[in-house]
Amino acid sequence: MTYSLPELTYDYAALEPHISARIMELHHSKHHKAYVDGANHALAQMAEARETGSFANINRLEKDLAFHLGGHVNHSIFWTNLAPDAGGTPEGEVASAIDEYFGSFDAFKAHFQAASLGIQGSGWGVLSWDPLGSRLVIQQLFDQQANTAQGTIPILQLDMWEHAFYLDYQNVKADYVAAFWHIVNWENVAKRFEAARAHAGASLLV
Ligand code: MN
Repeated sequence: MTYSLPELTYDYAALEPHISARIMELHHSKHHKAYVDGANHALAQMAEARETGSFANINRLEKDLAFHLGGHVNHSIFWTNLAPDAGGTPEGEVASAIDEYFGSFDAFKAHFQAASLGIQGSGWGVLSWDPLGSRLVIQQLFDQQANTAQGTIPILQLDMWEHAFYLDYQNVKADYVAAFWHIVNWENVAKRFEAARAHAGASLLV
């Protein structure tokens, strides 16, 4: 199998009281697992289609791959974007970049929060590096795979699917987003920022 479920580096209960152990367990072991399985299954069915030369289902398979691989990528990033005893404000170059492209950390926060809360249906709030403009952008990712530009590299993602918060926060999404800021792993975001700028910029511009 090409894809596998990554282990978390913290316990399911580690993000309490901001995200409950019950949500973390279901979210990681059931929801994320289903995306991993779905992505592997789509690849297997595509291989079978090539072997038999029958591409009658190719549109469905391409959609399945985008959705499930998207889900796998998104959750793999999300888990590392979180940590117990984290939160606060970013430091170093990522902090300077946030100030540069959004005016201030508070303005960034307000923008990211509004974009996340404004998502119609299921999706993600995403802070990404755009190699073409050499800048940070905030995007609304619909479902697991839509409404973002090719080539942008996510460095911070917030899962706004109901499965991510409903057990803890019911319909009060704003409380979930407020809690998120207490568990953002800015060290991980800084690492992703560095990697995005160092390695990915050139690939889009050749
Ligand atoms: Mn999710």
